[in-house]
Amino acid sequence: MNDSANGKQSLPASDVIARDKRYVWHPYTQHGTEVEPTVITRAKGASLFDAEGREILDLISSWWTCTHGHAHPKINAALARQAALMEHVMFAGFTHAPAVDLAEMLAGLLPGDLNRVFFSDDGSTSVEVAIKIAYQSWINRGEPRRRLLVAFDGGYHGDTLGAMSVGRGSQMFGAFKDLMCRVRVLPFPATFGGDDAADEREAGALSAFESLLADHKQAVAALIIEPLMQGSAGIRFCRPSFLKRLVEMAQSAGVIVIFDEVATGFGRTGTLFALEQAGVVPDLVCLSKGLTGGYMPLAATVARDRLFDMFLGHNFDRALPHGHSFTANPLACAVALTALGLYEEEQTMARIGEINARHRTMLDVLAARADVSKPRVLGDVLAFEVQEGGQYQSEASRKLRAWYLAHGFNIRPIGSAVYLMPPYCITDEELSRAYAGMIEGLDQLASGAL
Ligand code: PLP
Repeated sequence: MNDSANGKQSLPASDVIARDKRYVWHPYTQHGTEVEPTVITRAKGASLFDAEGREILDLISSWWTCTHGHAHPKINAALARQAALMEHVMFAGFTHAPAVDLAEMLAGLLPGDLNRVFFSDDGSTSVEVAIKIAYQSWINRGEPRRRLLVAFDGGYHGDTLGAMSVGRGSQMFGAFKDLMCRVRVLPFPATFGGDDAADEREAGALSAFESLLADHKQAVAALIIEPLMQGSAGIRFCRPSFLKRLVEMAQSAGVIVIFDEVATGFGRTGTLFALEQAGVVPDLVCLSKGLTGGYMPLAATVARDRLFDMFLGHNFDRALPHGHSFTANPLACAVALTALGLYEEEQTMARIGEINARHRTMLDVLAARADVSKPRVLGDVLAFEVQEGGQYQSEASRKLRAWYLAHGFNIRPIGSAVYLMPPYCITDEELSRAYAGMIEGLDQLASGAL
């Protein structure tokens, strides 16, 4: 078998699968029931190619990471350039231009005094860092009673212990509940087009927060939210006006506001960051996934200057005791810089606007179906519910996923939510193909053929 990426003979897919079965433990996978994984040998633009050369449109951007497309020539070149110079150096006591340039660029892109960038490895660690900064900042300020964290029902922030704790409302982590830290969960006012109960739901969430603040005066350390879109909860949207009121309420009570923009950042919601639509300046912002264009693991927790200042002092006790072997890896930083530069060069935000307009043309088509509810669009994201109330990997969603994959589409429903979140390089022809395939899969499910 010829691997066209490097021209070398590669092992047959069946061999890779056999050894995968023997040696690999996959994420979010029940190996007792899961079908064989697909061996991917190369990727280009919006497409993945399996070992037989079959094209699969990556319509969820490989877990929402891929922004400008797979194997982008400019990002590839930046990676090769940096690799020839320096692959890595520890980041305590040393620094390098790729990290400094990237930190400066992020500070320039984010509003207000969100100027201090702490690098880590992935979305989960960016959240751990944010929680630890928020928590320790109260200790450093001499208010150690502020230790309660507030999060949202359905919220997901990653799989490390702190991130799972604030994601306890996702109902995914029951096995670990005794390991979690203290977190209060507020209702999330999920909404969609034509929703006439949105005001009521938002008022309910805000009043729950108000009562919590009243009952736990001076005890709430921080609030964390996925702004505008809860991803793993099933692509649930909330309105910018709700976010604005929430942030105002929190900040006026002195509560540190953490925006987890791991999924929403870098254009997914139609603006570079979701926070722009709410017109607010959170105290901490978590970034990852699209930061490197989806190329490699890198994350950033960006803090307001005054939070950083609370860690200054003359002994180590006030410093943040956190860091990773690969903090600010130069390869990842160089890739991120190039990926960020492409927004201007390739007019990416305008393309996201076009994708959004195309998605909107599907709203009526979806609304007309009896088997679909709550069709909704935000930025690059099109979502709707099929057979509402499904579990994370319900039977219907498993069947749909398998059908889509067999027909060349990487679409993985979450519970009852089916969604598209394509790389921004997707062409109009590919989008048309994606919509047609998406609808055909629904028809197959509705007809009982799956
Ligand atoms: N936060 C949000 C909002 C996410 O969607 C995710 C992952 O999907 C994470 C954090 C965790 O990121 P990672 O999987 O890179 O650890």
